[in-house]
Amino acid sequence: MGLAFIQFDSMFDQIESQHQNHIKGFAKNIKNHFRSAMSKNKNITEIISKNKTIQTAFIQNNTKQLCKKAREFRILGVYDIFFMDSSFNILCQTNHLQNISFDQPKLPIFQKAALSSQCSLVDIQRTLYIIAVCPIIAEHQRVGYVVSLIQVYPHLVDEIISHLQIQLKINYQNKPISSYLDNINVDSWEAYTFLFTIDDISLEVTLYENSIISQLLTKSRQSHLYFLLAILAVFISGIALFIRKLITPMNQLVNAMNKYSKGELKLSLLPNVQNEIGNLSHAFHRMIIDLEHAEQRFGRIFEYSIEGIFQIHPEGYFIRVNPALVKILGYLSPEELIESISDISSQMYVYSEDWERFKSMLLEQNQVKSFEVRLYQKDLSIIWVSINARNVRNRNGEIICYEGFLIDITERKSREEFEKERKALELANHTKSEFLANVSHEIRTPLNAVLGLGKLLYKTELNNLQKEYLDDILNSSKILLELINDILDYSKVELGNIQLVNTSFYLMDIYQNIISIFKQQIQTKKMAFVFHIPKECGIELIGDPIRIKQILINLLGNAVKFTDKGQVWIQTDSLHKTSGEIYISISVTDTGIGIDETDQHRIFQAFTQADASSTRKYSGTGLGLAICEKLVYKMKGKMYVTSIPTKGSTFSITIPLTYDENSNKPIKSPPVYSRILIIEDDEVNAKFVKSVFKNENMDIHILPDGQDIFQYLIQYSYDMIFMDIQLPGIDGYELSQHIRQSGRITLPIIALTACAMKGDREKCLAAGMNDYLPKPFEPEDVLAIYHKWKGALQLESRPLEKKSIKPDQKQ
Ligand code: ADP
Repeated sequence: MGLAFIQFDSMFDQIESQHQNHIKGFAKNIKNHFRSAMSKNKNITEIISKNKTIQTAFIQNNTKQLCKKAREFRILGVYDIFFMDSSFNILCQTNHLQNISFDQPKLPIFQKAALSSQCSLVDIQRTLYIIAVCPIIAEHQRVGYVVSLIQVYPHLVDEIISHLQIQLKINYQNKPISSYLDNINVDSWEAYTFLFTIDDISLEVTLYENSIISQLLTKSRQSHLYFLLAILAVFISGIALFIRKLITPMNQLVNAMNKYSKGELKLSLLPNVQNEIGNLSHAFHRMIIDLEHAEQRFGRIFEYSIEGIFQIHPEGYFIRVNPALVKILGYLSPEELIESISDISSQMYVYSEDWERFKSMLLEQNQVKSFEVRLYQKDLSIIWVSINARNVRNRNGEIICYEGFLIDITERKSREEFEKERKALELANHTKSEFLANVSHEIRTPLNAVLGLGKLLYKTELNNLQKEYLDDILNSSKILLELINDILDYSKVELGNIQLVNTSFYLMDIYQNIISIFKQQIQTKKMAFVFHIPKECGIELIGDPIRIKQILINLLGNAVKFTDKGQVWIQTDSLHKTSGEIYISISVTDTGIGIDETDQHRIFQAFTQADASSTRKYSGTGLGLAICEKLVYKMKGKMYVTSIPTKGSTFSITIPLTYDENSNKPIKSPPVYSRILIIEDDEVNAKFVKSVFKNENMDIHILPDGQDIFQYLIQYSYDMIFMDIQLPGIDGYELSQHIRQSGRITLPIIALTACAMKGDREKCLAAGMNDYLPKPFEPEDVLAIYHKWKGALQLESRPLEKKSIKPDQKQ
């Protein structure tokens, strides 16, 4: 059974909504009346129950909607009862509903009622309600009547009644309705029930008075409430059913989400349903997989980062730390670190105010960058770290932790400190050097005056005691002047005030000059003194000869100073020669006191001496080597020492020099002559040595002892002497010493001796001999030692012509 209300009257808009609802409830009452009436007729009930469902539509006053509904529900076929309001008829006359056919009769009262829409609200409430009927067509037959509830305004009642009378054969209790209608007093009527009988169907229709309707409405309101409750129950059970369908997968999804949010990263079960939840679950699953990948990626970064990564609670304890941080802070595991530190400020920050500073910076700027601070490690050693951190906030904007990373910058910091100290030291050193340079310069002037005046004083008439005092004064002044000069030199080098010159020179000239300086000292010490310059170093070189000479004077001065007996030998070599450039190595070797290995590094520092006690004996300032090293460095060369205590030392320098490849200038190196003196009392031995040189086109003299040696030495300039130690009369040691004393310090003397005992060689060297050839020897040994020493520089003048008078040769 269809039940339709068509409410299309602006009048209803004006009525309170409560009233509208009452209309609904009232319609229900009407419907019940109608149903009970119909149930009396079996046929109709059957037809209705077979073909129709009870359906209620409440169509609001929207023309288009009405038309649509009208068509949709086959308005005449589906609904059994229409409750239409008065304006509906107007609508029927519009084009919208033209093709909807209502069986006649139309209810003309509608039209009239429409006019009443202008009525006041009071009028409306005082209206009559009338039920009108029109035939219902279903399945091509009339199955019932539309019963319309019409609000009828008092002034229209008569007209309505008359229409009813006209159009319906209304009987009530077998009397025409008109007979009743006559009794209707509009002002006081309560209810009239009509029984409509149409085609044998009787229909009881009750006409209510307004106040009765109100009662009905109240009733219906209650029933409406029940109805609402029923609707609600149905709705709730529907929802429950619906939810049951959704709830299980939804629960699964929510569970999975909860687990995930608690950190359970492995997803156990996700709903597999074909609806929106399924889609959601799919999307969630994809998101988790992406997150897992991202987590893995970032997890690896966290685990293997070399930076220490952390999350710190604002109250000052660690929430999370990575292995790098654990290592930086010297702990064994993240757990140990997190458990050990409950107050970062006091346990980790060396200065707790740094922690406060760190926190307030974060508060102000929300992040800190390169925050450098000192932290304690587990073992309380202090490290410098640089921290980058930011605030992590919750949705309410409160800081929940600080998150960031730090790196260990201890090394960089100590480098910086060192650099700072070095600069400060450099500055202090510079100031010191400046001061020394100024002071020594100032001292030199009066000292020069002392020396100059002393020398003048020397020329005046002085008694012996005065001369002695004056000697002391002059000697002391010289020593002082040397010291001042050294200091000045050193200061200059330190200040970088020394400018190297580039000029051409011969090493030979430098050596000869040096020999003249030290000759006296060497002779006094009865030492051998040999220079050796190979041909390739005898060329004209380009460099700073003054500074090279200064270095060699220092080295030679030390060699002579620290050697009491034996020899000093300057060996020159070319290490590397390319076109225009030559690396020269010059070594100064002595047989002096030597230097302990531990002291060998120190002696190049200024004012440092190997053995303070020996200094008193040998005097000195400890500046010479420091100056030499700095000068060599300035020449882009190197300087080093090898030494054996008590045996002697070798100081070597290697410096790059240039030369003119196209120069025609002559080579200057010691002349190599071939005049040898053999002093040997054993004739056979002497002859043997001579025979070794037979192919060398040499002038060989033999003497059986040292008796006439000086006569020979004066007459012939020998290049080398081979001397037996056990000679008749004066022995080889003594003879050598005499030769050195005579000023022949560079003449190589080679000992030939049968004494091959330990210490014999040293004894020979100490006696001023250059080398030592133990018997028995082979011809090659003799030649080797000859070649080793030939070319050594001899200071003695030699006769011009090569072949001169031969001495007596006892052959
Ligand atoms: P000085 O000789 O004026 O003390 P140097 O700087 O020239 O200063 O030498 C520093 C120290 O090195 C010397 O005091 C000495 O102890 C050691 N030394 C230098 N040359 C030699 C050498 N040839 N033999 C032994 N010791 C040497």
